[in-house]
Amino acid sequence: MKTVLITGGTGFIGSHFAKFLLEKGYRVIAVDNFLTSNESNIKDIKENPNFKLINHDISLPLEIDEDVHYLLHFASPASPVDYSQLPIQTLKVGALGTHNALGIARAKNAVFMLASTSEVYGDPLVHPQPESYWGNVNPTGPRGVYDEAKRFAEAMTIAYHKIHKIDIKIARIFNTFGPKMRKKDGRAVPNFITQALANQPVTVYGDGSQTRSFCYISDLIEGLYKLMLSDVNEPVNIGNPNEYTILDLAKKIIQLSGSTSEIVFKDLPVDDPKTRCPNITKAKTILEWQPTIGVDEGLTKTIEWFRTS
Ligand code: NAD
Ligand code: UDP
Repeated sequence: MKTVLITGGTGFIGSHFAKFLLEKGYRVIAVDNFLTSNESNIKDIKENPNFKLINHDISLPLEIDEDVHYLLHFASPASPVDYSQLPIQTLKVGALGTHNALGIARAKNAVFMLASTSEVYGDPLVHPQPESYWGNVNPTGPRGVYDEAKRFAEAMTIAYHKIHKIDIKIARIFNTFGPKMRKKDGRAVPNFITQALANQPVTVYGDGSQTRSFCYISDLIEGLYKLMLSDVNEPVNIGNPNEYTILDLAKKIIQLSGSTSEIVFKDLPVDDPKTRCPNITKAKTILEWQPTIGVDEGLTKTIEWFRTS
């Protein structure tokens, strides 16, 4: 039985990945300090004998006394609201946390995967974004703490590959949504669904003309798993290339929720990217992966989960 250690293993993506891997027959160790998650995310797996939880801040060193075959470094605040409230923790987990996680992977001779992000492209000047684009990031703006931490994490991961010959994977994850997102984590999808289900005003920032491309969680996990098993050591975009304006997303969620909510317009946050859409040619050709769940289907499942949880 192969063992996978997931930092951030009780978060939104980490807990879905943990469940998926347990079902595939892996042993899973989740390392998490519950900075932006809670135990309810793992209630369906925590009694599984092949699952182990270590409550630990990965920005501090950690020793693991068993074999680890894959180390997935997913710990980091991910919502812009979370990382603007937790700037130092975000920088530390991207820098020190990545260093500690790489150290464990090196000691265990484990395959290392970094959960990177479309935010490494910043407010992109190239559209859609291929992996070869270097990005347009403001290092001192409110999003800089996240963007620069992830850019540092990518550089550190590549350095460990070059110097210590670690087998590394870098997943540049684009906006992903689904069940188990925190209702108040501040991201557009949970905000809009929570507001729509309460028939309260849906808050669109700016005029809503900025775009995002939304991937359903099960598609993302399939893509990450293919990358984990691949021999690709370069960054790969994983996301859904169907692009929507945020205003259209808000209207869609109101309609799919059967809500009477109105849309209200609020100030656009500083440095909010105007566009974001992955070029997934690399994932399609090298991993033979592409998303299969459309936004309407994914939103319907997510709305149902928010309604009943
Ligand atoms: P999340 O906030 O739900 O999960 C992050 C997890 O990391 C939480 O369980 C949190 O408690 C944990 N964590 C944070 N700092 C920690 C530390 N120092 N030590 C141990 N655990 C710590 O976010 P998510 O959406 O599941 O994102 C997971 C990863 O994927 C993040 O690295 C994020 O940057 C990346 N990502 C997510 C998206 C997305 O759309 N969800 C997009 C791009 C990248
Ligand atoms: N957004 C919005 N209303 C909200 C929350 C977010 O209009 O209540 C906008 C936000 O300004 C951004 C987009 O929705 O343009 C996506 O935001 P999210 O926080 O989900 O992720 P981001 O892609 O910005 O990291």
